[in-house]
Amino acid sequence: MKILIVEDETSISRFVQLELEHEGYETKCVADGREALDEAVNNDYDLIVLDVMLPSLNGIEVLRRLRQVKQTPVIILTARDQIMDKVAGLDLGANDYMTKPFAIEELLARIRANVKKEMRSSQCVLTCGKLKVDVESHIVTFGSDVIDLTKKEFDLLVHLLTNRNVVISREQALDAVWGFDFYGNTNVVDVYIRYLRSKLDDVYGVQIIQTVRGSGYVIRD
Ligand code: CA
Repeated sequence: MKILIVEDETSISRFVQLELEHEGYETKCVADGREALDEAVNNDYDLIVLDVMLPSLNGIEVLRRLRQVKQTPVIILTARDQIMDKVAGLDLGANDYMTKPFAIEELLARIRANVKKEMRSSQCVLTCGKLKVDVESHIVTFGSDVIDLTKKEFDLLVHLLTNRNVVISREQALDAVWGFDFYGNTNVVDVYIRYLRSKLDDVYGVQIIQTVRGSGYVIRD
């Protein structure tokens, strides 16, 4: 796994690099926007951690140009007061975002989740207690019952199971399940969570999907 770290604050990039290498990733650090774009276009990275405020070309612009040629997963780093960067980043096809300052554990979890997402198709059966989801055959069972889910319900459940123990925000679920080109309200995620709960939790008296107030949803072990 190769990860490109684009960050001009050396203390941050060095720290992230050490942590990622400790986790077994290969890394490269770049501190300049133009250089980052060159590096990302001309090499095959499994994921890019991309800061927004960069010299020569900002991260949003790097992402915009990169997306014209490549779909490498990108996690953008934005400052707390730059909500527009987050929105622009997601609109332009960022896979995820982190607000600075961030806990390194959370960045590592999001990197794992986004790299895993790429490999999802090779992962065949996802389980949570008595719930079993066969990703390839699209068969969902609870104990011996077969659960009938629509395509979106299925995709949402798979997304939550694949990212087990990671809190998924409405925006992230929307991007992953409905796609970046979906134009509408994130309430649609709540609606589909309700559908899933009515088919699973309400029927079997369990609580598979947890709500994390103000953050989103999670399936925990
Ligand atoms: Ca910066």
